[in-house]
Amino acid sequence: MSAKLLEGKPIAGKIKEDLKQEIQSLGEAPVLASIQVGDNAGAEAYVRSQKKNAENLGIDYQLHKLGDDTEEAALTEFIQKLNNDDKVNGIIIQMPLPAQIDYKKISRYIKPEKDVEGMHPANIGKLVFGNAKISPCTAASSMELIKASGVDLYGKEVVIVGHSEIVGKPLSLLLLEKFATVTVCHIGTSKAGKLEEHVKRAEVLIVAVGKAGIVKKDWIKEGAIVVDVGINRIDGKIIGDVDPEAAERASFITPVPGGVGPLTVTMLMKNTLEAAKLQRAI
Ligand code: NAD
Repeated sequence: MSAKLLEGKPIAGKIKEDLKQEIQSLGEAPVLASIQVGDNAGAEAYVRSQKKNAENLGIDYQLHKLGDDTEEAALTEFIQKLNNDDKVNGIIIQMPLPAQIDYKKISRYIKPEKDVEGMHPANIGKLVFGNAKISPCTAASSMELIKASGVDLYGKEVVIVGHSEIVGKPLSLLLLEKFATVTVCHIGTSKAGKLEEHVKRAEVLIVAVGKAGIVKKDWIKEGAIVVDVGINRIDGKIIGDVDPEAAERASFITPVPGGVGPLTVTMLMKNTLEAAKLQRAI
């Protein structure tokens, strides 16, 4: 079997068409405030992509650049200012941050209604209760890719490799909401020598580890749907966590690059619209 490619761009394109229309019908452009602390090439690239995407959809993107030496207290104060600004609908803090700033601590200061990354404990709590309007972007992207395969998740064996707060954990909750049978593997699973046996059972497999080739071709169940979230830079090339030859066994597989990546920024825009609607009680 040769897998069909689950490409992020066309799926993102369709979602963006719908977002554009809904944003136009709001009358007033949603405002996404982005905070960048210090200069960093990675953050600059994200900001450029976010700005371009936002502007194409009719979202007003405001970039606030703070100095490299900004302390946590000053950043918190800045966040409070944006929280209290009625015109601002969403707030995102760009990564990476300078060493003196603890992202986990700082991100808690963003008002949950403006938390477009979906990482505030209040929003994670809503995920647990199954009524989240705003979900963490990469987990939401993975769900869109799975949806595009057309699979009915009800009762399916779904295996996630990676239990981070931004991908594996929120994704497990989104999948439970669809009544999938979810197994979450992580470093402990590998150390116990059990990763292969879990992966081999997966009808739907999502891998988010950051180790090239950690999932071998032979581990893929015939006909499985595979979402590869991993990004690894090897010899100047970007590759995923799953052996590319897994495409010979899977029914659907995401390319790396070009799978999850292009959808993630679209999910950020979707969350910005949701945040604007929450604040305007639409
Ligand atoms: P993380 O470092 O926070 O978490 C890694 C996870 O992998 C942990 O759960 C850890 O226990 C697990 N792990 C590590 N070694 C393992 C092993 N040998 N066997 C099994 N599990 C193991 O990473 P993250 O932030 O969730 O990112 C994971 C990958 O996804 C990275 O490559 C990252 O670049 C990529 N990523 C891509 C996007 C995107 O938009 N495409 C977004 C976020 C992250």
